Amino acid sequence: MLQFTDRGIYCPDGDFYIDAWKPVNRNIVTHAHSDHARPGHRFYLAHHHSEQIMQLRLGKSISLQTTSYGRSININGVQVSLHPAGHIPGSAQIRITRKAGEVWVVSGDYKTEDDGLCTPFEPLPCDTFISECTFGMPVYHWKPQQEVVEEILKWWQQNQGEGKVSFLFAYALGKAQRLINALYPYSQQIFVHGAVYNCNEALIKDRVEVPEVSRAEPGKDKNQYKGSLIIAPPSAMNSTWMRKFGESGTAIASGWMSLRGARRRRAADRGFVISDHADWKGLQEAIHATGASQVVTTHGYTAVFTRWLNEQGIYSREIQTSFEGEDGW
Ligand SMILES: [Zn+2]
Ligand SMILES: [Zn+2]
Repeated sequence: MLQFTDRGIYCPDGDFYIDAWKPVNRNIVTHAHSDHARPGHRFYLAHHHSEQIMQLRLGKSISLQTTSYGRSININGVQVSLHPAGHIPGSAQIRITRKAGEVWVVSGDYKTEDDGLCTPFEPLPCDTFISECTFGMPVYHWKPQQEVVEEILKWWQQNQGEGKVSFLFAYALGKAQRLINALYPYSQQIFVHGAVYNCNEALIKDRVEVPEVSRAEPGKDKNQYKGSLIIAPPSAMNSTWMRKFGESGTAIASGWMSLRGARRRRAADRGFVISDHADWKGLQEAIHATGASQVVTTHGYTAVFTRWLNEQGIYSREIQTSFEGEDGW
């Protein structure tokens, strides 16, 4: 049903690609992160929650068709439908089948925990499951989101007590909105960097329920931000922009923060382990739930994870793609 080419994952029967990394005619996009939604394709298909973000990142002029979760689309006789991947708003697993034959699912990036913002991951029965394994090693084990939220609140309150601004660095699309959504009920003293603000605006236009927060603008009265939380992308860390806000505490929110030394190398005060990808257990649960007899791994710890699956009696192989792991940390 699918072939793995140097342009991307290809369906010859339907003559379309999924998350192609070189320009193609027809491309289905699992989600709007830049390693999956690339420029230069003639026609795009994606979930409607990705519309504004894709236009923001790839230009207003792209030819983009959008669809809802669960709706079946016929492309040259192949049935295609998008289903929630729970990774970021609008993220989808692509289900492909032809005349009630074999079912293939391309999961893109996914996580199994309900984050309160995205439509939760939906296990799809299939014959072949194409999976990422960004965190496909036993050392990666995520705490429930609520525990991490409480850790963040504690750190923030401590900074407030010291009259500091709290900078929380998180990927601008997905992670940032997830954190805003989870923290907002506790305090509305949340501001965002322009890159996060633009993503928020695009998602709100696409009717994703992100709380409306203001852009943090340095140069105004420094005291205005005392005690507040500012969510910014990793690139803003230790920038001149950041230093204009006065005394601050800094923290990084990423799955990589579970690795010893990762926080220190980035010179942040704190690291909060929170990821938009499945952990070791989440990957296994997701794969078992599909009942797939074949798994193809695309990115992450593919060698380790593929070997583990084969040992479990699930035929597995790794392929080369241009997909990247979490956040580029
Ligand atoms: Zn992603
Ligand atoms: Zn990715």
